Amino acid sequence: MHELSIAVNIVDIVTEEANKSKASSIAEIEIEIGGMSGIIIEALEFAMEEAVKGSCLSNAKLNYTELRAEANCSKCNNQFDVDDFFAVCPKCGSFETDIIKGKELKIKKIILG
Ligand SMILES: [Zn+2]
Repeated sequence: MHELSIAVNIVDIVTEEANKSKASSIAEIEIEIGGMSGIIIEALEFAMEEAVKGSCLSNAKLNYTELRAEANCSKCNNQFDVDDFFAVCPKCGSFETDIIKGKELKIKKIILG
């Protein structure tokens, strides 16, 4: 399962941060998921429940935020919100558009507990 490896990765990153700060537990984290990342939030939530077991995140509050994806038109340089990989520029109607935001997954905030 794709989301489980992502969840394990998130736990690893946060654990590393906790170790650096000599914190034994994490109170809260915030995860931002791009609308074009291909990650299903519900699936990630489910995977996180498994991944945090026995880690410094086991009692942490996990917050998930979905980020809107944005595309840039290479023809007229217009930037616009998208929810599809085949984005058409709303300004000039061009198909020559690139997704510039929303493919990423980010750990936005880590609050040590
Ligand atoms: Zn355009």
